[in-house]
Amino acid sequence: MIQVERLSKRYGSIKAVDRLTFAVGRGEIVGLLGPNGAGKTTTMRMLTTFLPPTSGRAVLSGHDVLDESLEVRRKVGYLPENVPLYHEMRVREYLTFRAKLKDVPRPRRRAEIARVIARCQLGEVEDRILGQLSKGYRQRVGLAEAMVRDPDILILDEPTAGLDPLQIREVRALIRELGDRHTILLSTHVMTEVEAVCGRVIIIAQGRIALDDRLDRLQAENAIAVEARGPAEAIRAVLEKVPGTEKVILTGRDGDHAAFKVQARGGADLREELATRLFQNGWPVRRLDLKRTTLEDRFIQAVAQEELAADAEAA
Ligand code: ATP
Repeated sequence: MIQVERLSKRYGSIKAVDRLTFAVGRGEIVGLLGPNGAGKTTTMRMLTTFLPPTSGRAVLSGHDVLDESLEVRRKVGYLPENVPLYHEMRVREYLTFRAKLKDVPRPRRRAEIARVIARCQLGEVEDRILGQLSKGYRQRVGLAEAMVRDPDILILDEPTAGLDPLQIREVRALIRELGDRHTILLSTHVMTEVEAVCGRVIIIAQGRIALDDRLDRLQAENAIAVEARGPAEAIRAVLEKVPGTEKVILTGRDGDHAAFKVQARGGADLREELATRLFQNGWPVRRLDLKRTTLEDRFIQAVAQEELAADAEAA
């Protein structure tokens, strides 16, 4: 659905986006994360044809952003960071105007507007003037606009920024629902948002990809820290036999105590099973902790590594 190859954008001496390569398949919801100035908005603007790349290529729904920009705009719904609404227009009027611009045939327009209004729960405000709407409703109008003509791909730049917690929950639920039939790329600064709605995360830093992975793989990195009193090798042998254990690493010794890191298949929480075996063998347990790998940990690691790499390159 989205194919990006060595996509780059320079502003004078600033490399805003630096040889990004990734692909997003049909039905995926991908979160684009990165520190301020990492290049998220620039990437999204290139993918939606609002900004020409300096080099590289992006193909969306089979159409090249440079050569077939009109086709791309038809196939891709875009919610920009600041929704550019016409403040004096009414909601329905604005969506009708956008539907015309997107070439929705006249006989289908009314039904199409009704569909997006219902989907984004805008019925209550459809006759209100845009300039008088709350931020949450304006954001929903932006989403509704992105959904006009039922595009294959939705590109959403910080879709929940500035919303209250209730609105955030609603917009996230809507995005998850839309994910059934659309390919979605969304940017955010909120890790929990990615965990709540995305199947995959791409972290960019300094215009480059610092991490591209599925979220369920993060969970698989969970590990259990164990400390028990007893003979280290015997304890290890017992822990290794607990069903679901993948790897047991001896991480240290402290007098009669031994410390281990236990990795379980799929990051499963085996604490109760491990405790039972240690207890059955008469080895007192001093510590048993599930250490979850959080997206925040991975974000900080990935961004720091990318910064080091960029510094090394500059030197
Ligand atoms: P944020 O999280 O703060 O929204 P971002 O990841 O979306 O940041 P971009 O807005 O894409 O980052 O900016 C990437 C880099 O390009 C930054 O260094 C920014 O200052 C620079 N930049 C963006 N637009 C322009 C422009 N029109 N002219 C010059 N530099 C720009």
